[in-house]
Amino acid sequence: MARYRDASCRLCRREGQKLFLKGERCYSVKCAMEKRNYPPGQHGQGRKKISEYGVQLREKQKAKRFYGLLETQFRNTFEKAAKKKGITGENLLVMLETRLDNVVFRLGFASSRKEARQLVTHGHFTVNGKKLDIPSAMLKAGDVVKVKEKSTNSPKFKEIRDMSINVPAWVSVDVDKLEGRVIAMPTREDIDTPIAEHLIVELYSK
Ligand code: SF4
Repeated sequence: MARYRDASCRLCRREGQKLFLKGERCYSVKCAMEKRNYPPGQHGQGRKKISEYGVQLREKQKAKRFYGLLETQFRNTFEKAAKKKGITGENLLVMLETRLDNVVFRLGFASSRKEARQLVTHGHFTVNGKKLDIPSAMLKAGDVVKVKEKSTNSPKFKEIRDMSINVPAWVSVDVDKLEGRVIAMPTREDIDTPIAEHLIVELYSK
């Protein structure tokens, strides 16, 4: 499967804000945004003016990078969101939030979406009792995500049992059981990812 393989921190610098792609490092002084908060490249510090199209493009790139999707995957998700009832931008965010890899991240079972994606593809989770290793799988209200029995003794998941995890209102977690549940589909208000989704809709509507 195609993946972005360049340095993650360049993406944050390009978007001019932290995208939290590297787990704990993102909260430390080692974060590249603390030291070099300007776009990468030779002209990084010189670029200033940005057109309306540029603003929309950057917002789309930011959303894509926050959730770790490549262009085609993101565009396909947008097309599906546009076909659903309701507001396209909000549908898009809800679809991105309810991806299995994002739910694993939201439940605190991974320190970043990138790590969550890796844990999912390595088959560490079940959904409603069945192994599911597809990061893009969309979850729905009532779905139960659990660390697979065989994986519960791995150091990664053992340390989670000792952590206190804050989760958004639309999911719940039981760290002792290493189990989480989607209580309800998230609403726009529940999603704190700093994305102006209307700009993405405007971009794709051109
Ligand atoms: Fe972005 Fe995290 Fe790198 Fe900081 S450490 S630039 S937040 S990926």
